[in-house]
Amino acid sequence: MVLKSRVLLLQLPVPRLNYGVQTGNIPLGAACLKQAAGILPEVQVDILPESVASYLGDAALMEILLGRKPDIVGFTIYCWNLTRSLYFAEKLKERYAPRIIFGGSEITPDNRSTLSEAVDFYVYGEGEAIFLKLLEDPTTWEKRSSMAPAGALFKKSPSPYLQNLLEPEIENVMLLETQRGCPYRCGYCYYNKSHDGLSFADQAHLLQGIQWALDHHVKELYLLDPSLNAHPGLKDLLRKISKINKDRHLEIISEIRAEAIDAELADLFAAAGFSWFEIGLQSTNPRALKIMNRPTSIKRFARGATLLKQRGIVAAIDLIVGLPGDDLQGFGRSVEFVAENNLADDVQVFPLSVLPGTDFRFNSNELGLRFDKSPPYTLIESATFSADDMLLAFDHAEVRFDVVLFPMPDLDVSWKFGKEPMGAIPGDIAVKIGNERFIAKLQLNSHRPLSELALLAKRLTHPYQVFIHPGLPDPDFIKMAIKVLSAANPFTPFEIVFMEPEQVPHTPSVLSAAKLQRPHFLDQDLRYLFPAEGNRAVLFTLVSRDAKQRFNRDMERQVFWWEKNRFPEMTDLSELSELDGILIDVAGSNRETEAWQDRFAGHAENIPFISFSDVLLQRRWLMLTMPDDYVGQALNWLNSHLNPVSPCVKR
Ligand code: SF4
Repeated sequence: MVLKSRVLLLQLPVPRLNYGVQTGNIPLGAACLKQAAGILPEVQVDILPESVASYLGDAALMEILLGRKPDIVGFTIYCWNLTRSLYFAEKLKERYAPRIIFGGSEITPDNRSTLSEAVDFYVYGEGEAIFLKLLEDPTTWEKRSSMAPAGALFKKSPSPYLQNLLEPEIENVMLLETQRGCPYRCGYCYYNKSHDGLSFADQAHLLQGIQWALDHHVKELYLLDPSLNAHPGLKDLLRKISKINKDRHLEIISEIRAEAIDAELADLFAAAGFSWFEIGLQSTNPRALKIMNRPTSIKRFARGATLLKQRGIVAAIDLIVGLPGDDLQGFGRSVEFVAENNLADDVQVFPLSVLPGTDFRFNSNELGLRFDKSPPYTLIESATFSADDMLLAFDHAEVRFDVVLFPMPDLDVSWKFGKEPMGAIPGDIAVKIGNERFIAKLQLNSHRPLSELALLAKRLTHPYQVFIHPGLPDPDFIKMAIKVLSAANPFTPFEIVFMEPEQVPHTPSVLSAAKLQRPHFLDQDLRYLFPAEGNRAVLFTLVSRDAKQRFNRDMERQVFWWEKNRFPEMTDLSELSELDGILIDVAGSNRETEAWQDRFAGHAENIPFISFSDVLLQRRWLMLTMPDDYVGQALNWLNSHLNPVSPCVKR
């Protein structure tokens, strides 16, 4: 048989500033397409594995795509990967002109920021039916865009996990679609418009999926349903799930309208193994609820959420800041409602995103909404919420709920293997992705040739760190190196770690050399990390033995280098708590460090951020203190053997 075409589907992750952190970048849409195309034996559809797509920098990923040269490349587009996907589409088109398809929730008829000459076809809504047409009938491409319901295909297809099309072991999470379409019409949401009507998964397929999750020891199953309460025959389904998941080994999570929960339903959820629900309250302000077309009885909401909580199910309540019709006082009342009803265990507070395709976007002028024009389209101000009010609202929620809504990235300034003698020149630190090594921690301890850095730039992870060691005081070389690395990776966030520099680095000058695409998604998404807008995609960390605070502008943090011959005690940690963290670099056996880690892991939330100089001990600390946030297999550190002529590669 002769292959008619080779297709590669990929989904790029939410950009992050910590390597190895969970991304949730599960290419479920791509797996549904591959499954649908199974009826076409002359077409080969591959999915770029999650472990590759999520952790490689731009240049390394591009090398892989160019190595494969598929005839068709399909991108799943979300607001967080739109600009990076456009970059890849345009580069691929320049290099060998494959056909490019864009689909996913960001692709809406009114979203002009997705338009590019490089994209051959835009898929609105569900993808399976159009994908098949594109593969079977070449004239379909001439339409350039289309929308076609795929409910019938969805209903008759079991979960793609059952055909081993996805890798649940990476984050130990499985996604199972129970429904497509939504019966509600919230003004800030596009999902309800992307599907004609509602399609429900076949119950036998759902139960098969749950059994598969148990058989494969999946820890967490996410039932993808915009509102599980609207699922027909829900109580019957829950009874059947509880029989399969009788020991509750599988933790099930989903989304629901709290008003729909009564005591019987809450009991059934608990018996079936549900552990967490995302529940959109958004606001208690009647005017805001009316404008967003989301009628809510707040009394019934409180009762439903409390019923879940009483059964040990976490009710994660969402609130939105900046809704039309709401103001600072109204938002304050929403916060009080959540706090007074004791529902703040896992509260999430977001700024309003004025998304393409939504009623809010179409009526943004009438509603007085001024928002960022690039993803995630964050509200800047509205007729009733000034820019200052937005900041005050987040401050208020943080104080009332005692949470940090926009935390700084986790601290990981590990840079060597513990067996290195003190003072030795460290080598780059790599990780194995697929069958190859890529650099996550690059060391600058002397002038490395720019030609060598240009080669290494093609082997960087997403994100990556650059360690500037004391032997390299030359700011011009540092800037040149950053320019070379970032020019090859214009969408990959990175951190520069200055190890005991002679002078406090002037970060605006270093930043001016970086060739990142601006505004970067993180610049917009982490807008509220600091009051003034600006860089959020490059992080600067100063590691010093001097505890005097000298490095605290936006995106700067200072870490104390604990190089003493003993481990810090609680009193030491509190003395250093004004700084942004402590790097523990104590010579001695691993056993002593591990004993310290075991002693302090339970206090991690109440002590400064801690890091360890040894990458393996750092990995241990992360897995002890944040096991649900990191992917253990992504943190299997290795020595780099990428360039044997490099002065930095010693092993
Ligand atoms: S926000 Fe949720 S409930 Fe509202 S329309 Fe969108 S998917 Fe449906």
